[in-house]
Amino acid sequence: MDESLPWHEPLWRQLQQRRAAGRLPHALLLAGPAGLGKLIFARRLAEALLCESPSVEGDACGQCRGCRLFRAGSHPDYSVVQPEEDQNSSEDDSPAGGAGGGKKKKSKVIKIDQIRELCAFLGHTTQYGGYKIALLEPADQLNVNAANSLLKTLEEPPGACVLLLVAARPARLPATVRSRCQLIRFDRPPITLALPWLAARVGGGLVEPATLLDVAGGSPLAALRYADGDRWRRRRELAEGYDQILMGRLDPIQAAEQWTQGELAENLCWLIGWHTDLIRLKMNPAPHCLSHPDLRPLLRRWAAQPTPRVLFERLDAAVRLHTLCTAAQANAPLLLEAFLSEAAGGDESGVPRTPV
Ligand SMILES: [Zn+2]
Repeated sequence: MDESLPWHEPLWRQLQQRRAAGRLPHALLLAGPAGLGKLIFARRLAEALLCESPSVEGDACGQCRGCRLFRAGSHPDYSVVQPEEDQNSSEDDSPAGGAGGGKKKKSKVIKIDQIRELCAFLGHTTQYGGYKIALLEPADQLNVNAANSLLKTLEEPPGACVLLLVAARPARLPATVRSRCQLIRFDRPPITLALPWLAARVGGGLVEPATLLDVAGGSPLAALRYADGDRWRRRRELAEGYDQILMGRLDPIQAAEQWTQGELAENLCWLIGWHTDLIRLKMNPAPHCLSHPDLRPLLRRWAAQPTPRVLFERLDAAVRLHTLCTAAQANAPLLLEAFLSEAAGGDESGVPRTPV
């Protein structure tokens, strides 16, 4: 079973109280920033609901028929819906679970056929007389038709079914879907909870746990990922490459290639973080906190020349770049080239141009 995470406990207890009172909602929207373990929570809940003799805390026993089937990925009353296989898209590394889990190549959207199949699954009688559980992850990748198709099931959920929608960007879901789900909001845990948890896992590593947590914006699981040497090195290389671009020593078109290595969305989150830090440094030469404190000397240099207005415009452009690049069918290399070229020579013009 997935490890339970200390910052989940208040949410877990609330849900268990509802369950005990017979008021568990039919649809839950587990929303909040990436790196907080929403999917771990959703799987823990799914397993607990399918367990035949849960513990006093409401956790799965791990022994019964329901638990064994769940862990084998073959519980007949459990279905996982994720963006479906597509030969043209990138390798998945998310921890898929339950039926259909495992290494797959994925497209970026959940399609209507998948939702039709899911609604049919939920409409059938339960095999073991308990709940029927559906996990949609990431639910914010439902395309419009798929979301509309899901609405009917959300309006009139059949019998004892529970839908778990996991979303880092719930605003991407239609309001009609959101309003029919009970929102379970995940916030970043206080540092007093996050830091000891992280330190126990990465203590003695190359990077201070507090620095990892800063760079991860306070999300402990994201911080744990950054403790991986390859990721940390890639971030450093991208920062040094970006420095070369700003100094006019590296061709932005050549550099765009480097940015598509590894996880593009993660690379672009770093880019956004740097630009937020540049504004902090511009406004206050000795800011109390930076998202990337270990890059302070580089960031200082980048913040020295441009005006505050230019820095704000670059931040906007970085956020827009992230949104565009993570959308379906984006031409990421082209968008990156445009952004980096602008950064290389855009100080004078002031207005970044990002093609759609
Ligand atoms: Zn069990």
